[in-house]
Amino acid sequence: MIKKILIANRGEIAVRILRACKDLGIQTVAVHSTADAEAMCVRLADESVCIGPPQPRESYLNIPAIISAACITGADAIHPGFGFLSENATFAHMVEEHGLTFIGPKADHIAMMGDKIMAKKTITKLGLPTVPGSDAAVTSADKALRIAGEVGYPLLIKAAGGGGGRGMKVARSKTDFLEAYETAKREAGISFGNDRVYLEKYLERPRHIEFQIIADKYGNAVHLGERDCSLQRRNQKVWEEAPSVVLSPEFRDEFGQKIAKSMAKLGYVGVGTLEFLYENDQLFFIEMNTRIQVEHPVTEMITGVDIIREQILVADGQKLSVTQNDISFRGHAIECRINSENSQTFIPSAGTVSNYHCPGGPGIRVDSALYDGCKIPPYYDSLIAKLIVHANDREQCLARLRRALREYVIDGVDTLIPLHIELADNADIINANFDIHFLEKLFDAN
Ligand code: ADP
Repeated sequence: MIKKILIANRGEIAVRILRACKDLGIQTVAVHSTADAEAMCVRLADESVCIGPPQPRESYLNIPAIISAACITGADAIHPGFGFLSENATFAHMVEEHGLTFIGPKADHIAMMGDKIMAKKTITKLGLPTVPGSDAAVTSADKALRIAGEVGYPLLIKAAGGGGGRGMKVARSKTDFLEAYETAKREAGISFGNDRVYLEKYLERPRHIEFQIIADKYGNAVHLGERDCSLQRRNQKVWEEAPSVVLSPEFRDEFGQKIAKSMAKLGYVGVGTLEFLYENDQLFFIEMNTRIQVEHPVTEMITGVDIIREQILVADGQKLSVTQNDISFRGHAIECRINSENSQTFIPSAGTVSNYHCPGGPGIRVDSALYDGCKIPPYYDSLIAKLIVHANDREQCLARLRRALREYVIDGVDTLIPLHIELADNADIINANFDIHFLEKLFDAN
């Protein structure tokens, strides 16, 4: 039985994990960089260990420091959260080698899905639809050009090791293909240390729809429905909602069960998200995230399942506490990512929160690590809070969202709250009439 968990992360997700641990009666160890010494997670945890200077590679990515902290404090498991080491198969393997439980899937599954070419091959074998494209890495410019002709333009050149919305180049025609191919390959080598690229049909007006699954080691796997994450900026999600207005309950159930069965067949254990693009009433797989995701709360709100709790329990070798029949979907939920960025220029903003007031009332959940006087250091991702709103239907959810956004006060740093207010009042968003390019077009028009 897991009795003590080291949380190898920071910010709101560290606090979210800590809360699940407390609810389970599990002791917590926070790790932090010198810049985060006064972070909320450090204050709330049973113990804390400083693991290095502010730069992520010296602290939150410092594997020896993190594993040593776990050994010194007698933790028996490590939760990686998202980002940082959460999809690092070597880290997962090393954690297990030290006799600790990694709260995530097996290292082999992380490696398999971390290579997007391998992920697509695996998913195709399991009988799920993927975006048409090259079925392997394209290794030379000549071959790439030939395959590009077969796939058809426009197409995307994607990095096998890509992530975070980076490592993609569009080629609209044969004329601009070679330059895009060379740039994509060069950038992939620099950013991801792996210059393997593959080709994918560029879908012009898709929605981004992803399915949440959880599986235990006894072959039980369930799906928790989908999230629509089409509102994106530079391929990064800005707000997410569940359910998606474009899927019928019958389709959700049938497709979701197909995915859950596929994951059980693969022997996958843990939480995971299969991401798809949706166009012309069809879903096409693009990638799988083998970790908890930023947007998991919208699913928690409509299903009532505490996903991180289940994640900890299945990593501990326990059975899933829910079956597919126990899962039902109630109402609608929307999450706004509140980044410390200027809402017009998106320039990140660091500093001290001089005044903090959190919205409340029916259907409102705020996941954050903010408090009056807390510091927002300049070294990390700018996500500082998530506002999640739940109501009986989408219309009521939007009304609550508008109310909550106007109540929310975060002084001292710039935030995206003004942008979210604008989005919540936008007629197309109100009518759920958008695709993944909606925000780009909106920003271009302004
Ligand atoms: P990452 O791992 O960097 O998040 P993904 O493959 O998940 O990369 O894609 C991120 C986003 O990029 C998608 O949500 C979508 O907006 C866009 N995208 C990815 N593949 C395609 C495609 N084939 N056609 C059009 N847009 C795409």
